[in-house]
Amino acid sequence: MTKKIDEILQLTIEEFVIKGCTEGLKTRDYFKIKNTLLKYEEYEDNQYYKKLKRIVNDNYFLQDLFDEEYIYYVMLNSSLLPFVLVNNTHDEIKLYSNDSFMFLCQFHTEKTPSLGVTNHVNLMYCFGCGYGGNVFDYVKDYENISFKEALSLVAEVYNLEKTGIKVNKDLVDKYKRSIMSDKYLELIEQGMKRIIDRSKKDINKYGYDAYRVIEAYNKNLNQIYAVMNNITPGIPPVSYPKEKIYTKAHLDTSYLE
Ligand SMILES: [Zn+2]
Repeated sequence: MTKKIDEILQLTIEEFVIKGCTEGLKTRDYFKIKNTLLKYEEYEDNQYYKKLKRIVNDNYFLQDLFDEEYIYYVMLNSSLLPFVLVNNTHDEIKLYSNDSFMFLCQFHTEKTPSLGVTNHVNLMYCFGCGYGGNVFDYVKDYENISFKEALSLVAEVYNLEKTGIKVNKDLVDKYKRSIMSDKYLELIEQGMKRIIDRSKKDINKYGYDAYRVIEAYNKNLNQIYAVMNNITPGIPPVSYPKEKIYTKAHLDTSYLE
């Protein structure tokens, strides 16, 4: 049990609402609470379970803010990399493993880049200050806005179903421009090339990651295409020009060569 959840459990519902409204809660805190709930579900009369359930279900703040399905929908249809990229101030961005990139950390002062963003996992972690999180955490913390605004901003950037919350138009434009930038395309292509080369050498070792990198790369292309054409990347996703899309066959043939 993390300290954060223990802290939350000490609060009354009212205190929790106030804390949540003023400080915001990270998505992962919510999922931790939900996972804990599931674990305790078989003990219906457990006091701990009852308290958690009350927090999640009877709290208008959580119901309003954390629609799990909607969060997943926005998360699956967005990528962290272009968000970090546009706020990057360092000249060189290093590819250090698969499709992971090292940036100068934007949350602490440093001279050597230690903020890693892994594209196919869609998460970031700083080896210097320990900052980590997903696209919502990043937007919330970097732009200093609430979770709700961060979620709405990401949805708007990717032309997804809107939340009804007003978002800053300049921020939307900034991140849209990043998604359509040559630099972003260059980065995801670098990651793609790296994984194809690696898979060629050792398909057993890199095969699984390779498939995930390919999936992420194609997802990125769909997103770029959708943003450029101002359309929603629904299901089935919009199709990017076929010749640009990599498939598992690219790996298999390169391995056989
Ligand atoms: Zn850092």
